[in-house]
Amino acid sequence: MNDYPKVFLKKGKEASIKRFHPWVFSGAIQKIPSNIREGDIVEVFSEQGEYLATGHYQPDSISVRILSFSRRIIDQHFWQEKLQLAIKRRYDLGFFENNNTNVFRLVHGEGDFLPGLVADYYNGLVVVQFHSAGMYYAKEFIVQALRNILPHLKAIYNKSSNTLPFQIRSYNNDGFLWGEVENPLLVKENGYSFVIDYKEGQKTGFFIDQREHRMLVASFCKNKRVANLFGYTGGFAIYASKHGAFDVVNVDSSEKALDIAVQNYKLNNCNNIKNIGLEVNDFFKQTDTYYDVIVLDPPAFAKHHIHKEKALIAYKNINAKALKIINSGGILFSFSCSQAISAIELKQAIFVAAANSGRNISILFQLHQPPDHPVNIYHPEGDYLKGFVLRVD
Ligand code: SAH
Repeated sequence: MNDYPKVFLKKGKEASIKRFHPWVFSGAIQKIPSNIREGDIVEVFSEQGEYLATGHYQPDSISVRILSFSRRIIDQHFWQEKLQLAIKRRYDLGFFENNNTNVFRLVHGEGDFLPGLVADYYNGLVVVQFHSAGMYYAKEFIVQALRNILPHLKAIYNKSSNTLPFQIRSYNNDGFLWGEVENPLLVKENGYSFVIDYKEGQKTGFFIDQREHRMLVASFCKNKRVANLFGYTGGFAIYASKHGAFDVVNVDSSEKALDIAVQNYKLNNCNNIKNIGLEVNDFFKQTDTYYDVIVLDPPAFAKHHIHKEKALIAYKNINAKALKIINSGGILFSFSCSQAISAIELKQAIFVAAANSGRNISILFQLHQPPDHPVNIYHPEGDYLKGFVLRVD
């Protein structure tokens, strides 16, 4: 037994939790103890008093993030077990002891049954992002468990100042939780070298989720002219250049990202990539060149459902503009990383752009996040990265 505070649901509101969905919304809650604090571990009960799950409380629209559907103490042993399993999933997929790739996602929140925790592995450095107060308070356990499990661990860095919810954010200081390594850091992905600025870079420093898609882009690039739009530190551009593209532009509005991109081009001996520091919309206005391969990988236009309609118009518009500067026989890679936008909705936005272009367009591949970013089958919202590969005639 334990004395975790008890949260009671309204009548009939236990259905989704019984289907193992890992979130309890505030509207489903009947009664919470008055002394409950942000980040507390709580037990969730049905209106009739049946135990349902144990999780982290957050005074937000998602009020409880479930850690366990069986009654247990959330102690060091718990964290060790959960993280061991997340790491084994990567081990079984061949991510450890891989000579070509030493950057991958180690823990993917709900996808690893640990809502609120993201951790990326960068050649011995683990960068953690806490998305809830509960995960933030568990950090000592998490650090200890990672130290116990990972044999080649060099350091653990906390980068949560943009991911923690409002109240707890003011307590957080980004920095090393254990050990120390240099910044920036060098990693390898599919044999190519990348500089990672995990302190100042976007997300945890790199868009790890595009690893497989970079290979696919590469396969279309021989003797082609390529535009990598929203290019960040040049990931897709480098693969294109190394696989025979004769000319590549990498367009991004972030100067910091483009500075690192230049270092990446040098590291990989790429001398035919040009950085363009512009908003993508301004690039579309200015360019008078046609491209054979275009990668469109914008930031999440809809971070929340309420922004969906506007975001779909924005996706339609950038796809329409890309279709205006693509050669016949060209290939368009069109991505969305908005959790709130489904693959069907993205396809509809591209459909409208395609129809307005009047061109013959076919779908070659439908893309999805890679297996180090797994989707918990009970949490379809976790399926955030979508992409379509289109042939444009
Ligand atoms: N394709 C990249 C990741 C893209 S993330 C990769 O594989 O690494 C989105 C990028 O879009 C970020 O680098 C951000 O700086 C850039 N960005 C955001 N808004 C932009 C805009 N309006 N115009 C150009 N770049 C933009």
